[in-house]
Amino acid sequence: MTSSQMADSRSYDAVAVGAGPNGLAAAVKLAQAGLSVALFESRTTVGGGLFTKELTLPGFRHDVFASVHPLAAGSPFLRTLPLAEYGLEWVHSPAPLAHPLDDGTAIMLERSVEATAQNLGKDAGAYKDLVEPLVKRWDDLAADIMRPLSFPRHPLLFSRFGLRAIRSASGLAETVFGDTRARALFAGLGAHSIMPLDRQGSAAIALVMCVTAHAVGWPIARGGSQKIAEALASYLRTLKGEIVTGRTIEAVEDLPKARVVVLDVTPRQLLRMLQHLPEGYQRKLQNHRYGPAAYKVEWALKAPIPWRAADCRRAATVHVGGTLQEIVKAESAIWHGRPAEKPFVLLTQQSLFDSTRAPEGQHVAGAYCHVPNGSDADMTAAIEAQVERFAPGFCSLIIGRHELPPGELEMLNANCVGGDIAGGIQNLRRLLKSSLGSRPYAVPVKGFYVCSASTPPGAGVHGMCGYHAAVAALRELG
Ligand SMILES: Cc1cc2nc3c(=O)[nH]c(=O)nc-3n(C[C@H](O)[C@H](O)[C@H](O)COP(=O)(O)OP(=O)(O)OC[C@H]3O[C@@H](n4cnc5c(N)ncnc54)[C@H](O)[C@@H]3O)c2cc1C
Repeated sequence: MTSSQMADSRSYDAVAVGAGPNGLAAAVKLAQAGLSVALFESRTTVGGGLFTKELTLPGFRHDVFASVHPLAAGSPFLRTLPLAEYGLEWVHSPAPLAHPLDDGTAIMLERSVEATAQNLGKDAGAYKDLVEPLVKRWDDLAADIMRPLSFPRHPLLFSRFGLRAIRSASGLAETVFGDTRARALFAGLGAHSIMPLDRQGSAAIALVMCVTAHAVGWPIARGGSQKIAEALASYLRTLKGEIVTGRTIEAVEDLPKARVVVLDVTPRQLLRMLQHLPEGYQRKLQNHRYGPAAYKVEWALKAPIPWRAADCRRAATVHVGGTLQEIVKAESAIWHGRPAEKPFVLLTQQSLFDSTRAPEGQHVAGAYCHVPNGSDADMTAAIEAQVERFAPGFCSLIIGRHELPPGELEMLNANCVGGDIAGGIQNLRRLLKSSLGSRPYAVPVKGFYVCSASTPPGAGVHGMCGYHAAVAALRELG
């Protein structure tokens, strides 16, 4: 009997569908409570957004989706798990982030607040005032913001964060900072929100990215992001959890009997998988809006990227896009349904810090920009032109290239609907109130829960959606 047939013939306390970080986290939490658990995954490997593969040439290991992990390193749940014992090793580049400018310098986001501030000239004091109080209490802040919005456990800290987070990233940057360098740095961080930077709420993600850089770092996983998923899966197996890969669940009727079912899928898939949903809930799922997509390129390189600003070689992540004004313009175009002419590019260069990623002396790098949902625009030339702008000679080093337009992202992971990388549109409304209602994890059919990044606290590799969904399920089981 195959593992799939064996799982089908049994009944479980809980089954989970989808082995992304949230499905894995939910399964682990349920198994930790002593429940028998089976987890079903479409792909032949676990991980969802945690997927490392030789995409270009043999020996060049690329992170196909997520590559940098401040949210995993700072996750209130993942941090409690013994993942290091199961092969997860974080690698920190000397600086979390570099942001090159046309004058040949780079703004460096360093691990220390003080060192970063020193980089920011007359904005040094303002930078420290903005981030230091939040950095010092990241654990308390994370406990309040990495869950559905509710009365905070640390009200003063939360309001200090919230009053700034609710603003637009560009508005906050222009009010707090007087100089182009700090403004550009903050705009790049705000672009992780996948919102126009002049929209309210885009400052929230900028602040989280900034604070995590100092509080926990922006590590990569040695060997690739896949290692995070493998560590979670190995730990789950020690808790007697079963994992069946290569098995797509079309409808919940295909699952073995269970008291609880947790689904790591987005609303559109949920609608297909579960018949007989109450009409009001169906409408909520139908009204769930998907957001901009990613267009990603992976490169095999014969040498490190020749950044004009040498400091860029100290950071695993490089934000390529210039000034605040340029980044605002690029991200706003996407919101209006047009790919940006000069996109804001999020680039990672893992092999500079992790020698397992490429043959000796050679390198991998990957980069993506945002594009409208479902876009078929070819962004490779525009992305490479932006890198070449700050690293003349870059294109001559490319010996292998793999493009991942939105359609391919969705083919590799059904949760990336139209190439959406965040489980739905990001806006202030979604930050404040889940599109799935006040009990966002509970599907209104007894025993069913949803735990993907479409639920709070949203996108990113942190497993907190899975954790909270599992807690809600355990509460129901009593
Ligand atoms: C290009 C890109 C870059 C990113 N970069 C980062 C980053 O650097 N850092 C970061 O923190 N986050 C990053 N993210 C976001 C992060 O990857 C996601 O937010 C995160 O993976 C969401 O986790 P999840 O468990 O909700 O879903 P996913 O990771 O998407 O996993 C869902 C899983 O469910 C499976 N599945 C779906 N339907 C079925 C079905 N019917 N039957 C069986 N299995 C099914 C899928 O195959 C998949 O494995 C990035 C995302 C993308 C696309």
